[in-house]
Amino acid sequence: MLETRLEQLTACRAAALLRQGEISSVELTRAILERISAVDKKIHAYLNVTAERALTDARAADARLMAARRDGETPPPLLGVPMSIKDVISTRDVVTTAGSRMLENFTPVYDATVIEKLNAAGAHLIGKTNLDEFAMGSSTENSAFGVTRNPWALERVPGGSSGGSAAALAADEGIFALGTDTGGSVRQPASLTNTVGLRPSYGRVSRWGVIAFASSLDQVGPMTKDVRDAALILDVIAGVDPRDATTVDMPAPNYLAGLETGDLRLTGVRVGAPREYFVKGMAREVEAALRAALAHLETLGAEIHEISLPHTQYALPTYYLLAPAEASANLARYDGVKYGARADTPGDVWDVLRATRGRGFGAEVKRRIMLGTYALSAGYYDAYYLKAQKTRTLIKHDFDQAFNQVDVLVSAAAPTPAFRIGEKIDDPLQMYLADLFTLAQPLAGIPALCIPGGFGAGLPIGLQIMARAFDEAKMLRVAHAYEQTTDWHTRKPVL
Ligand code: GLN
Repeated sequence: MLETRLEQLTACRAAALLRQGEISSVELTRAILERISAVDKKIHAYLNVTAERALTDARAADARLMAARRDGETPPPLLGVPMSIKDVISTRDVVTTAGSRMLENFTPVYDATVIEKLNAAGAHLIGKTNLDEFAMGSSTENSAFGVTRNPWALERVPGGSSGGSAAALAADEGIFALGTDTGGSVRQPASLTNTVGLRPSYGRVSRWGVIAFASSLDQVGPMTKDVRDAALILDVIAGVDPRDATTVDMPAPNYLAGLETGDLRLTGVRVGAPREYFVKGMAREVEAALRAALAHLETLGAEIHEISLPHTQYALPTYYLLAPAEASANLARYDGVKYGARADTPGDVWDVLRATRGRGFGAEVKRRIMLGTYALSAGYYDAYYLKAQKTRTLIKHDFDQAFNQVDVLVSAAAPTPAFRIGEKIDDPLQMYLADLFTLAQPLAGIPALCIPGGFGAGLPIGLQIMARAFDEAKMLRVAHAYEQTTDWHTRKPVL
């Protein structure tokens, strides 16, 4: 008898059981579909559940698993495991909306590279998850298709923009997921839902086929139930892609193998605690959890150092200039002619264009386009965009200096636990502050991940670990040691 319910399995464990013939992919896929039927009315993690196709794929996987067992061959690492994909990542023949009316009927004719890679590793799609429109937001309230609720407290947000993926995992409506992270959208929802979210180094993972928000910041990242799964999914999706010129041709180590030494000691590992990440607006229980986590890392043998990242306070204004500037350029294509659902309206081409963009985009997307267009306009470019680019270099420099002194940096992932639905939606500045701890790493191009790090008043609190660019392995090792010697990640919400 299996000790856990099928829908609670991690990807690593599910794949092992599938290989051994202990469970079938059809059973596993059905268990997820049943769980979705039972709880997604409350949560709304999914925009689209591809049930029939998932079962067809599961049957094919079972046949391949059986053949592999018969022939004594090792099947691909995720054969038979279902995956939940943020609806900003293109999936062939499956509508991909980016959470926007603009793309309500967009059916891609190709898969994103990350989907191709996951399919090649044997995983199959089970559904597309909800998000803030064009990944702009921190609560999933900006979706054109309704909010997603936090499984830990249904009146609260699951974070964003990858809130659907995070909520699906927290509610065991999925085994593993993908999100995208421009300024925290993988890590902040992980923090609010007691799940794991990993943002890779810029250039580690291909964005080909991912609907662009801010191209110098966007990255695809694994969202999982534990650290080993994050390593496994990163192993599958990492690597250079000739179709994305920003990917780096640098060998990726086997991240999962790196965790399988069984050694959970962190003897001699230098952990930096950046002083500037202890801010006034931070919730008391978040600060307490962070201090306890640092003390715990010390008991594992790590050396804790106080570190300074002096330009931290500029990360938020810098990000909210650069990201909207890039968004305004990326979203120019949605005019109802080149891309997007064209508004049916009388008049000339300008009337059509105005109506298309007026109806197709929600309030937050329009706000970003206006902010970005303004920051890039003649006369303001030097004062805003150029200055922000220079500040970005200073922020990166802070991290370069820090990583000369320590191996990883540890901070909170979000200043507060999950907030209430509606609480910040009319106050963009308050909403932007939810990203306080997750904006600097994308600006610097470094990897960071968020893991379960405690609870306050019944709500999850995430712990963030950052590393030097392309040093995901070190960050994973520290995360794994912390996770395996604590039990936060084993806690589940009652639904
Ligand atoms: N919350 C941030 C924003 O609204 C980050 C979003 C993201 O990472 N996609 O821009």
